[in-house]
Amino acid sequence: MQLCRFNDDQLGLVRGDEIIDVTAALKILPRCSYPLPKHDLFIAHLGAVRAEVEKMAEGASKRYALAEVKLLSPVANPGKVVAAPVNYTRHLVEAREDKAIHHQNQIGEIQRVGLFLKASSSVVGASAGVSIARPDRRNDHEIELVAVIGKSGRNIPASRALEHVAGYCVGLDMTVRGPEERSMRKSPDNYTVLGPWLTTADEIEDVDNLDLLIEVNGEVRQRANTRDLIINLAGLIEFASSFYSLHPGDILMTGTPEGVSQVFPGDRMVAQISGLGRMVVDIHRDQTA
Ligand code: MN
Repeated sequence: MQLCRFNDDQLGLVRGDEIIDVTAALKILPRCSYPLPKHDLFIAHLGAVRAEVEKMAEGASKRYALAEVKLLSPVANPGKVVAAPVNYTRHLVEAREDKAIHHQNQIGEIQRVGLFLKASSSVVGASAGVSIARPDRRNDHEIELVAVIGKSGRNIPASRALEHVAGYCVGLDMTVRGPEERSMRKSPDNYTVLGPWLTTADEIEDVDNLDLLIEVNGEVRQRANTRDLIINLAGLIEFASSFYSLHPGDILMTGTPEGVSQVFPGDRMVAQISGLGRMVVDIHRDQTA
């Protein structure tokens, strides 16, 4: 099932180039009061929401053209955004060779440097686009396979890791290059783009064999396959959960392949991953303008 969040926090079932409004399915979500749970409510109750969506989809009369809606992040309230640094060998080589990427930072192997966190306030959907946070710096796109955690866990073995995944989406780990810590350079507002929607895990037969592609202004910049990940998704879940608990709605960005490049206001990025859809993301004028 492919579910999007769109317009005014509505829920949509994606069918081809149409969206069926199934917002009423969210009525099954429990009411919350302060303090709020540590998980995303929609993802934590995805099974029950899906059952409602299936019941109502055929009779639902409100439909929208996909091209005409504003796509929001498929996860509204991620508790944390976990991200893999250099996790494709050819990107490791590229990052070590290019001073404009590494900025004298030691580019270590992922097994040694571990994972990092991005601010959850950086998360947006495709339609929001990206405004350049630091126009005095190089700002890059990084396309990444994103897994949305569906079930809590700590010390999850790789052999059971995929049981903890609710679904997948295309991710852009936008990055300001420079000497600061990754967590700072990758956390400006809108620097984590998720979309175009959530594809539930059952739709993806082999997450270790998905093609990724990003074009900027029609020119291919990154093209890769998740089979070339240094640590694959199951290994990343094991690694992450050996340090902290994962909760429903947590986002796991799996790392970017070679071909990262600078983007400028006015550019249009088109990012797609096989089976997960294609999202159009515009670069807007810089945040300081
Ligand atoms: Mn990245």
